[in-house]
Amino acid sequence: MNSELLFERSKQVVPGGVHSPVRSFSSVGGTPIFFTEANGAYLKSVEGKEYIDYCLSFGPLLFGHRNPEIQEVVEDTVRKAWSFGACEPYSLELAEYITERIPWVEKIRFVNSGTEAVMSALRVARAATGRNKILKFDGCYHGHLDQLLVKSGSGLAGLSSSDSKGIGPEIIQNTLVLPLDDETKLEELFQREGSKIACLAIEPLPANYGLLPQRIEFLKKCRDLSTKYGVLLLFDEVISGFRVSFQGMAGVTGIVPDLVCYGKIIGGGFPVGAYAGKKDLMDLVAPSGPVYQAGTLSANPIGMRAGLKTLTKAWTEDPYTKLENATKQLTDGIVNILSEKGDSNWEAVTFGSLFWLKSKTENPIRTINQIPESHKSNFAKLFHKLLNQGVYLAPSGYEVGFLSTAHSVDIINRTLEKTKQALKD
Ligand SMILES: *Cc1c(COP(=O)(O)O)cnc(C)c1O
Repeated sequence: MNSELLFERSKQVVPGGVHSPVRSFSSVGGTPIFFTEANGAYLKSVEGKEYIDYCLSFGPLLFGHRNPEIQEVVEDTVRKAWSFGACEPYSLELAEYITERIPWVEKIRFVNSGTEAVMSALRVARAATGRNKILKFDGCYHGHLDQLLVKSGSGLAGLSSSDSKGIGPEIIQNTLVLPLDDETKLEELFQREGSKIACLAIEPLPANYGLLPQRIEFLKKCRDLSTKYGVLLLFDEVISGFRVSFQGMAGVTGIVPDLVCYGKIIGGGFPVGAYAGKKDLMDLVAPSGPVYQAGTLSANPIGMRAGLKTLTKAWTEDPYTKLENATKQLTDGIVNILSEKGDSNWEAVTFGSLFWLKSKTENPIRTINQIPESHKSNFAKLFHKLLNQGVYLAPSGYEVGFLSTAHSVDIINRTLEKTKQALKD
């Protein structure tokens, strides 16, 4: 088998040949690699070539591919049941595990993706407040639900325009959009519209348009204004939850959200999302309340048990400091090698085990319009050099990279050797 031939075939029967756009390599050029196997920090392609994986399925695999302990639980579950569509103890165990360890999660509902989680949380926010407007920030991604697939429009601050065809103005008329990092604009918008806003949705660690750590003052302002105007603060921790700490960014910053969404790590590599919050909000959800939300495969036993094993390991082994150090070792190493080879145009933004290799800028980047235009093509070149040597980064300069506990010092050193090799030619 050969990736190029498979991609040609795939394009005949699948839009763009892929089931999620970034996989197509459209941002970096070339043909996507088709993989058949994964283990620990490694991917294996249909050609039989091995790659050290820093994309890691875009975040869910905190303990790497097919961690043996998690695999054991998955195999045990497969032998017992695949899906019940009825009550079972597994989701209860996961719900209790989380609610016992994250105080602002008093009740939680499991769904099948991050997108579903955010969509449902917004419904709760509208029901709870009796308001319709939703505020989001340019550069934050919350999944592909219509209402949030928007960017800021031209003209009056706060107005939005659709980020996709097929989403008409009537669908996004209640979505307001602001730039990140700007307390003044935030304050102005709240003064004008605060009493009509149901929910302020934010990635407390924006990680879907590069990695854009925010000033704590800005996040606090989001909390304070939301409280003042009766707006519900929604932390979208689909990436950051259980990744930057067990309690996510809310835990790191001490800023408590009203509603929180999880995905990625919570299912240990299986399709699981969740929305959660205080009892009074979550009790609005059917069947205890009037907000309808359902799912045929929700709380699927395989995802529930893989998720519980993953979170149990995260809580008991507390790998976060080790992961952070490994991430620094990797990115410092890559940036140094680039610089030694005469390309001193790079630096790395890291936060825990997330990293973003970016073109050097004078000031830290906190909003998307600060990202240099040359970054995309610079990254594409670096991406392909590393790919050739068997290092797989996420195939876009706007996606972040991830480490797992499977990325040992030895594997990181091997990555740096490959980087040297890659930059030789
Ligand atoms: C990945 C992601 C989503 C969407 O999750 P899916 O499972 O892909 O639907 C939502 N919000 C954030 C912050 C994400 O990183």
